[in-house]
Amino acid sequence: MRVSVPLERPWASAAGTLTRRESMLVRAVTRTRQADGWVEGEGWGECAALPWPSYTAEYTDGALAVAEQFFVPRLLALGTHDGRSVAPALAWAQGHNMAKAAFEMALLDAELRGQRRSFASELKRVSTIEGDMAGTVPAGVAIGLGPLNQVLREVEEFVAQGYRRVKLKVDPGREATLVETVRRRWPELVVMVDANGAYADLGAEKAAELLGPLALWSVACVEQPLAPQDLWGHAELARRCPVPICLDESVWSLPALQLALRLGACSVVNIKAGRLGGYLAAVAAHDLCAAGGVPVWCGGMVETGLGRAANTALAALPNFSLPGDISASSRFFGTDIAGPVELSGPGTIAVPGGPGLGVEVNSAALQRFTTRRSWYAAAGALKKSP
Ligand code: MG
Repeated sequence: MRVSVPLERPWASAAGTLTRRESMLVRAVTRTRQADGWVEGEGWGECAALPWPSYTAEYTDGALAVAEQFFVPRLLALGTHDGRSVAPALAWAQGHNMAKAAFEMALLDAELRGQRRSFASELKRVSTIEGDMAGTVPAGVAIGLGPLNQVLREVEEFVAQGYRRVKLKVDPGREATLVETVRRRWPELVVMVDANGAYADLGAEKAAELLGPLALWSVACVEQPLAPQDLWGHAELARRCPVPICLDESVWSLPALQLALRLGACSVVNIKAGRLGGYLAAVAAHDLCAAGGVPVWCGGMVETGLGRAANTALAALPNFSLPGDISASSRFFGTDIAGPVELSGPGTIAVPGGPGLGVEVNSAALQRFTTRRSWYAAAGALKKSP
């Protein structure tokens, strides 16, 4: 289904300005035979694609098209309810990672709700890295591009709510003043900056000249200064720039991540399940980074409570040692379609412990914000949406 959820205020990045979150959701209804008869399960998946092909090539209506034309028929023909079978079944198609991830998430959620196990417990089970799952994760908030005064007002508001980490969107020429002003006012705050590739045209040398001085203000990392494909440029920049380089858009597959680590293109990684093709691939990326001693944090895509709950579970894995983009639903939405996810303490969000994603859908809100709905049934199953 397609939803259009209004944002409390516009969200601006180099990828575009959102005023509503237009997303593809997947609702999976499964029937499995158990000892006491047939048991019906339900699970939810959220596609992280933006409405435009600007962050990656994917976009919401493209995700719906590829899902309806290719992914749904393939998964129905497969006749399985196993979330782990989604990625192999859809590996036939190149790209469309966020659309694929939404199906995996929905089937994992349905299965785990049926087994009364949490999403976090399943991610821990498939991880190869020792260590306990966190009960809470540090919350972080990303502040969009905007005039300095507006950015400062927003930082002030979120610090007052208890957030201890902000990520500032930056573009060339305005980064130094912005970071210096924020750091002078909030000396204890964890500050990261995200360029979404805005320094790509300048090249590594010039980007290092602009971003290197941010080390004076203890910036934790600078995220994705150059183009997604430019791992060589990021490696060159990493050699010249004293601020740790973090990659986001560049990390779209496990081989791309391996290459980035091997080249020294980054020393921190932003993990987003949608970009990697699913939460199981995100766990594998976490494990790869942990084995290489590279800390990771969990990025956000302005998700509703569904994706937000899944991200919180992912960020509970032990190598998510830096605070990520996980904020409360209220950071973006007046009314969320699931949850809402809320701060559980000063600057923290509790990892959902209930079955599956551990958040419930708000049916009234979902109905209000749904703009399109299609239902597909396996042979012999219910022909109408239950
Ligand atoms: Mg980013």
